[in-house]
Amino acid sequence: MYSYSNITTLRSDLEKGTVSAEGLTNETLSLIESKKHLNAFLEVFADSALAKAKEVDAKLKAGKAGRLAGLIVGLKDNICYKGHKVSASSRILEGFESLFSSTVVERLLAEDAIIIGRLNCDEFAMGSSNENSAFGPVLNPLNEKTVTGGSSGGSAAAVAAGLCHASFGSDTGGSIRQPASFTGTVGLKPTYGRVSRWGLIAYASSFDQIGPITHNVEDAAILLEVIAGADEYDTTASQKPVPAYSKTLGENKTYKIAYLKDCMDSEGLDPEVRKHTQAALDKLAAAGHTIVPVDFPYLDYLVPTYYVLTTAEASSNLSRFDGVHFGYRSKEANDLESTYKKSRSEGFGKEVKRRIMLGTFVLSAGYYDAYYSKAQKVRKLLRDKTMEILNDCDFIVTPSTPGTAFEFGKNSADPIKMYLEDIFTVQANIVGVPAVSVPNGQHSNGLPIGLQIMARPFDEAGMLNLAAKVIV
Ligand code: GLN
Repeated sequence: MYSYSNITTLRSDLEKGTVSAEGLTNETLSLIESKKHLNAFLEVFADSALAKAKEVDAKLKAGKAGRLAGLIVGLKDNICYKGHKVSASSRILEGFESLFSSTVVERLLAEDAIIIGRLNCDEFAMGSSNENSAFGPVLNPLNEKTVTGGSSGGSAAAVAAGLCHASFGSDTGGSIRQPASFTGTVGLKPTYGRVSRWGLIAYASSFDQIGPITHNVEDAAILLEVIAGADEYDTTASQKPVPAYSKTLGENKTYKIAYLKDCMDSEGLDPEVRKHTQAALDKLAAAGHTIVPVDFPYLDYLVPTYYVLTTAEASSNLSRFDGVHFGYRSKEANDLESTYKKSRSEGFGKEVKRRIMLGTFVLSAGYYDAYYSKAQKVRKLLRDKTMEILNDCDFIVTPSTPGTAFEFGKNSADPIKMYLEDIFTVQANIVGVPAVSVPNGQHSNGLPIGLQIMARPFDEAGMLNLAAKVIV
């Protein structure tokens, strides 16, 4: 069995001939089969992956292989790949096949990555534990009694269990970073607009970003270089040139780093997570960085603002799933109204329905001002306050999550409790700044703890440089 360490080493092993892309792909396919019980994959793309692997081996021989030659990657089941099924882990997309590839997939294939399959997630990326998938939860490979986090749970589990070298998720409020934190992997949410959303099934369009989950910071930097950049199909994708993130890793810079006192003092924070976060800050101080405690009096407004705005956007985005255009149609549909009503009632799961109803409510004529437009104003306030901190300091550091991976069912009865899992991650999406979660030691319960770093818009280079320094 090939022991994967990083993209650079993989490339030199492939060039030396100690491994082949086809050999690696076959090995990975057997490993996925032997770990089926984790439920990380919804589907394995064995045929197209093996065909690509053969093509990559030939290109390697001819000296024409792309930067990601032989890298085996998995896709969250909301990222479109032409000719392959995609379902957002929902029954409503049953049988639906992508008609085109997302820009991210196009760019990965152009650099010769091998796409091995689609990964389980919370339905329409709504959830923090992967318990909302129509196809069952994903087991955390580090402790199978606990969740992987969500919504990109399959993406995190697949990397942690070695079922692919890297994976891609989407992050609307923490869905890359929280599962990364629960599985001891690196999870990167880029600046809003850094990566094209073309071909990503939308949840909340002004929050969503695609990003990688990897074993290390260097791989995250290389993958971001490949997927980032302007895209004619997504007008929100920035025209800013893409820096060579992997080249600036290891730069010897000293930074001014803020931490939010309100986060560190928050009631729900596990004391051991607090201790490890403090230890990371102490280590950075000892290395010559300046650490500044700052006030962020709006912590309690983050989750409500997030849930008003994202559900509003979701209610609009998900209106297209109507039993006519895509996938599932109720067997009992016999006219237009029953087609809509029955297909949607049968096709969507409980959490998705809750959010569509909540979003429709906050957008309704009588409540629009009280909820939706108010939340937009709070979003502006949160952005101004966050940018005020980031004008003075290079980064903001927080724990990624209040605790470690929890047991199945623990938060299921109380949606608010589940929503509070996202208290530290939603800020970056509300504001649009980049954020990364890196492993920050182990809890006495044996599970990993994550540290989050947020940066100024488009400063992924600095953020990843710091991330590489703190990783434990
Ligand atoms: N857990 C959050 C939610 O349920 C975040 C989801 C995400 O980032 N896609 O909405």
